[in-house]
Amino acid sequence: MALIQEVLETVKKRNPSEPEFLQAVTEVLESIRPVIERNKKYRDAKILERLVEPERMIQFRVPWIDGEGQIQVNRGFRVQMNSALGPYKGGLRFHPTVCASIIKFLAFEQVFKNSLTGLPMGGGKGGADFDPKGKTDTEVMRFCQSFMTELFRHVGPNTDVPAGDIGVGGREVGYLFGQYKRLANEFTGVLTGKDPNWGGSLMRPEATGYGAVYFAEEMLKTRNETIEGKVCTVSGAGNAAQFTVEKLIECGAKPITMSDSSGFIYDKNGLTEEKLAFVKSIKNVRRGRIDAYAKKFRAKYVAGQRPWGLKCDCAFPCATQNEITGEDARKLVENGCYLVSEAANMPTIPAGVDLFLEKKILFGPGKAANAGGVATSGLEMSQNSMRLPWPCEEVDSRLRHIMSTIFKNAWETAAEYGHPGNLVVGANIAGFVKVAGAMLDQGVV
Ligand code: NDP
Repeated sequence: MALIQEVLETVKKRNPSEPEFLQAVTEVLESIRPVIERNKKYRDAKILERLVEPERMIQFRVPWIDGEGQIQVNRGFRVQMNSALGPYKGGLRFHPTVCASIIKFLAFEQVFKNSLTGLPMGGGKGGADFDPKGKTDTEVMRFCQSFMTELFRHVGPNTDVPAGDIGVGGREVGYLFGQYKRLANEFTGVLTGKDPNWGGSLMRPEATGYGAVYFAEEMLKTRNETIEGKVCTVSGAGNAAQFTVEKLIECGAKPITMSDSSGFIYDKNGLTEEKLAFVKSIKNVRRGRIDAYAKKFRAKYVAGQRPWGLKCDCAFPCATQNEITGEDARKLVENGCYLVSEAANMPTIPAGVDLFLEKKILFGPGKAANAGGVATSGLEMSQNSMRLPWPCEEVDSRLRHIMSTIFKNAWETAAEYGHPGNLVVGANIAGFVKVAGAMLDQGVV
């Protein structure tokens, strides 16, 4: 359709050198083609042209003093993409690769993901090119305080509610929250992923990984199967990966790998609760490398590679964008993998996604499969507004219900638009229709 091509050309022209943003926009726009063709109202209201332009984008200097007394300067971002459904919501990423393209792609994905959760949340994302690795707690605290000193004027419980992402976990959320509270002089739910002692939701740390496994179970149900007994490859060793592995173990599956940016470990006997506890202590307490696992448990360590060449039934990418190449996808399929549930955001490059769809494997795209994280953040916002914490069981049961509703919605929408089984089309259209409807209702803004 000419309109989609035109919009993509404009995005390319307006955002040169932003390949990740263009990749995310291309995937969404191409898959919502059927709904755009059917509905003149979206074309007349220039919904696509508006969706691809952030409502607001903030870039700022983050100066701070390191442990040696030297001044360091980083670059901070917050992209407030779309507020049609609620306050902007989406994580903060601290990683040296952070740039406008990455934050914009993440913010764009977030709009549709948040829409799919059914909760009142718009989409945003932020971060900085700061690397917490190798920094002391004091350095991380100083950086977070400086970052929030600028960000605080742009966020608020009814405006924009950030959370964690790569490089931003409980420690960073604590420092960011402390500085916000000091500057704004109010104790409010301005961030999610807080410690449950001071306003965080139980189950928020678990939610992304658990949600990705719940989503996989929903996909397997369509073939009358369960996750029990399945051999699973997992990448990453951070928040999303740890709780994916935890839930896989609990469900009787056999996770055999974890990784970090240096390489992956392969444990042919499968990870156990005890082994996972060791990973958590290496990563969350000692802040070390995954190769320590191989030494401790006599597992194999493969430096500089990802785990996608191994034989498995199911794959759970939980590290970062574009971590499954076309070649990796081919290897996965050839080795018998027939389910991919993306806990990471956009981990599969388009050629890989095309292959998974062509081979009709069960493929859960990130914006659906990892929506459990932001959904539980939404539940944290509700608890903060009520000033009433919910027990684990209640949050977990809501999370399960949300994941199964997202699956059903994406599955049925895919069929309705002539692409049965294609959850990329289903999730994108289902997410889009809700946001577009709200934009139509709210006029030209
Ligand atoms: P963490 O920082 O806790 O962990 C990230 C993991 O991925 C680490 O093991 C890290 O290794 C690895 N990693 C990061 N960058 C790269 C890279 N360029 N190449 C190889 N490995 C890399 O982050 P999360 O677990 O929170 O996030 C992981 C993914 O899940 C991201 O895509 C994120 O957007 C997505 N996600 C997270 C949510 C959440 O609630 N946390 C919600 C929804 C999605 P190393 O330590 O060596 O850098």
